[in-house]
Amino acid sequence: NRQIKLASRPHGEPTSDNFELTTSDIPTPKAGEMLLRTLYLSLDPYMRGRMSAAKSYADPLNIGDVMTGGTVAQVVESNIDGFSEGDIVVAQSGWQDYSVSTGEGVHKLDNNMPHPSYGLGVLGMPGFTGYMGLTDIGKPKAGETLVVAAATGPVGATVGQVGKRLGLHVVGVAGGAEKCAYAVDELGFDACIDHYADDFAEQLERACSDGIDIYYENVGGKVFDAVLPLLNAHARIPVCGLVSQYNATETPDGKDRLGMLMGTILKQRLTVKGFIIFEEYGEHFPEFLQTMGEWVEAGDIKTLEHMVEGLDNAPSAFVDMLNGQNFGKTVIQVADI
Ligand code: NDP
Repeated sequence: NRQIKLASRPHGEPTSDNFELTTSDIPTPKAGEMLLRTLYLSLDPYMRGRMSAAKSYADPLNIGDVMTGGTVAQVVESNIDGFSEGDIVVAQSGWQDYSVSTGEGVHKLDNNMPHPSYGLGVLGMPGFTGYMGLTDIGKPKAGETLVVAAATGPVGATVGQVGKRLGLHVVGVAGGAEKCAYAVDELGFDACIDHYADDFAEQLERACSDGIDIYYENVGGKVFDAVLPLLNAHARIPVCGLVSQYNATETPDGKDRLGMLMGTILKQRLTVKGFIIFEEYGEHFPEFLQTMGEWVEAGDIKTLEHMVEGLDNAPSAFVDMLNGQNFGKTVIQVADI
């Protein structure tokens, strides 16, 4: 059983020294447990937080712990009613080939689902996050302007496409021409601006000629700086993530922006609300799956996966994802069904 463990805490961007690949015996499930074999491992930005000792909504990993992560797995042996050998499930197995589960937090997928790995993306935690943050905190009204960065990632792509379905003017932000073209041509965004462009802020302003009513915050940093002056009165900001900051080791240079931020919150009467998806919205997951499942099956919501083969490639794929080297939802293919 191969396992990837946290070997040391990163300072800034994680390196290979922060991870350790070990092998151990395949565990044996006891009464009330089942043995899962990992098929797909999800790589998500939140894992960077778990590697750090800083206080957060979830406890950090300890040195030597197996890296946490959502998985699509196959039941090898089950001592739990309701789970049988061969079932395909979404679980929290972590970065390893085999794990033992009590079934808590595990849900079954249809064994004939054409793309079980979608259970880690558009039909899983990231898709759910985009859907709930936009609809519940963003409070969209047809005709309004929505801006979302990391536009081709699993959260951003969901936010933008659901936004289009709700009649919004959707402006994406993404890294590079290829991602921007995909957001417009395939996902149906009205515009998508490359945040690497020298005149990024000017381009964003031109694409948002009526100002911004909803800024779905995925990245922070210079994207937020460009958005702030464009926010309309009563704009809503679901604060979902700040991925541009996750590897930061110090506060950025430049003037203190806190006064401007608080002034804009006051003068524009903004709603700024953070959320942690399953803490706030867990009970809505079944209805989300129903709705999104129909949209995906009908081809109304599209999704792209950045599939990387082999558990041993997880550390480098993880660092690449934080840097925007992924194109779509990052998934490690650990084993064949
Ligand atoms: P993605 O797969 O989209 O990967 C992260 C993307 O962020 C990169 O591909 C890159 O895209 C973009 N990015 C990285 N650095 C920068 C930067 N400096 N400036 C602008 N963009 C940058 O991630 P997810 O869709 O899985 O997650 C998106 C956000 O949602 C994250 O912040 C994550 O933490 C958050 N999240 C929050 C949850 C919650 O419960 N609150 C739950 C799930 C996710 P590009 O190349 O296009 O710039």
